Amino acid sequence: KEISTRENNVAKIKVVVRKRPLNRKELSRKEDDAVAVHDSSSLTVYEPKLKVDLTAYVEQHEFCFDAVLDEDVSNDEVYRETVERIIPIIFQRTKATCFAYGQTGSGKTYTMQPLPLRAAQDMIRLLQQPVYRNQNFKLWLSYFEIYGGKLYDLLSDRRHLLMREDGKKQVCIVGLQEFEVSDVQVVREYIERGNAARSTGSTGANEESSRSHAILQLAVKKHIIVTETRRQRDRDANEAKNTKAVGKISFIDLAGSERGADTTDNDRQTRCYFCPQIHLPIIFPNINLVQLKNLLTCICYYHIRIEGAEINKSLLALKECIRALDNDQIHIPFRGSKLTEVLRDSFVGNSRTVMISCISPNAGSCEHTLNTLRYADRVK
Ligand code: ADP
Ligand code: MG
Repeated sequence: KEISTRENNVAKIKVVVRKRPLNRKELSRKEDDAVAVHDSSSLTVYEPKLKVDLTAYVEQHEFCFDAVLDEDVSNDEVYRETVERIIPIIFQRTKATCFAYGQTGSGKTYTMQPLPLRAAQDMIRLLQQPVYRNQNFKLWLSYFEIYGGKLYDLLSDRRHLLMREDGKKQVCIVGLQEFEVSDVQVVREYIERGNAARSTGSTGANEESSRSHAILQLAVKKHIIVTETRRQRDRDANEAKNTKAVGKISFIDLAGSERGADTTDNDRQTRCYFCPQIHLPIIFPNINLVQLKNLLTCICYYHIRIEGAEINKSLLALKECIRALDNDQIHIPFRGSKLTEVLRDSFVGNSRTVMISCISPNAGSCEHTLNTLRYADRVK
């Protein structure tokens, strides 16, 4: 397949929503599907609610986004809708960021996992075109994690990394291992190695996964052919000194957008997120889970309010940065979190951002789904 390298009209910020299918557990619990995708850009969430007298009703919420992907959309189509068009412009000095946002279990990892490999495939194909081969362009891969505000290299035994800013305000992660890749199979091996080193497996069932951001970067660099004398002089310098960054794309599997306490599936439906001692089935044995959850929200209104104020700092900072970028603001609030500081160089100059908001369809997740969609709405 031919990949066009013409300067294409790729939006600076693109917001895509992806709905996953109901899973087996949700089906066996006979949970309602509360999300209806109408067309390629709009959806409705049907939120089950209770009146004061405990009669049920449904509140409808309509949303529009750049793209809305229904549950039957394949990962390959997700790639085409999100990243494919950005790849050629990475070779023209663009820095791009693609991230998945959403509650734990909504499909972030499932969505993000195949993207870097598909991207690398296209990038390697582009590298073989004479125009880039002659300029000695090469592809480099790195993979690290932000966990508890600290950086860990996923490709070198979770080595703790520090961040430094150089004189030109370029962010540099000291000691981060980068590997030159020219073969898709090798890329796959690095990705698998990095995944295995994450503070969890890829299922998202582990509570730790929902608290870490995993960042995989594919950078295009131009190798400078050095003369023999220059080589002599630089003989102690590492390989990286003889390269010049052209563009890069970062793939980010973000931490779960919900609070950490809300991660185990059993707890999710039966306990108040913030008052785990309240087991609703014991207190109200005769109402269904959705009613239960609404009731919980009422009981713990005070806690829900506090949660709103404590929403994951880095996700909040990320939103602020993207909004500032979209408004062409001069001051971008990078310092808000480790995540945005790391991404700093991807947000200045010629940048592209794709946000994939992952949502769970089950009625029991409505509140999180609405939070995710409202976050996406504000980024837009
Ligand atoms: P997260 O990373 O957001 O916590 P995961 O990506 O681990 O969520 O997804 C949770 C579960 O749902 C996994 O078992 C995954 O395979 C499944 N899943 C997620 N999205 C889809 C989808 N679009 N189609 C089919 N299964 C999905
Ligand atoms: Mg995950």
